[in-house]
Amino acid sequence: MTPTPEIAAKVVMILGKRYPQKGDMDLGTAEDTLLGVLMSARTTDVQVLRVFPAFRKRFPTWESLARASVAEIAARINTIGLYRSKAKAIKGLAQNILKEFRGKVPRTMDELTSLPGVGRKTASCVLSYAFGIPAIAVDTHVFRIIRRLGWSRANNPEKMEKDLRTLIPQKNWNDVNRSMVRFGRDICVARTPQCWRCPVAKWCAYERKTPKP
Ligand code: SF4
Repeated sequence: MTPTPEIAAKVVMILGKRYPQKGDMDLGTAEDTLLGVLMSARTTDVQVLRVFPAFRKRFPTWESLARASVAEIAARINTIGLYRSKAKAIKGLAQNILKEFRGKVPRTMDELTSLPGVGRKTASCVLSYAFGIPAIAVDTHVFRIIRRLGWSRANNPEKMEKDLRTLIPQKNWNDVNRSMVRFGRDICVARTPQCWRCPVAKWCAYERKTPKP
């Protein structure tokens, strides 16, 4: 089935209604969302949320993070994956935001991705969650689901994001990541998608749809 903007908008809308909750890393402020998403790479959101309150209590400002040593930051997040390199990135991020952006999280893709440790996925989450600016964060769930739906054959997230920006109407962009992460954990799971209970199955191009057991 050839995807059209109308179908794409409908599917995103259906998923958006089915999963109305905010994203796990939608942490309220741009600062928290940026730090949370950065920390969540290659680790679970649950693990990040476990350490996050104490981490922010110890380092409540960019100044406190910029002043801290990498080892001090690492000690507060050492239960999450890649914590040493993340601690280094967080310190660099804090220094950079203070120096280049007067302590404010920037609001454009170019500025956000100029920060150490911040790629397009993280930047898109910040734009979308914290500022309500239309953006599509292609993470592992979005990548898998979009390929199954047949909306893009891209073999990397950057190319897929480009395809999606063309296909999906802009007013629906902010629902893509938010709803598909939950959809990808609940129904369109990595190993065996539960197609028999999928609310968007009739628009999905996946050839090996799983029948009801
Ligand atoms: S039909 Fe199956 S593969 Fe397609 S979106 Fe639904 S759960 Fe995923």
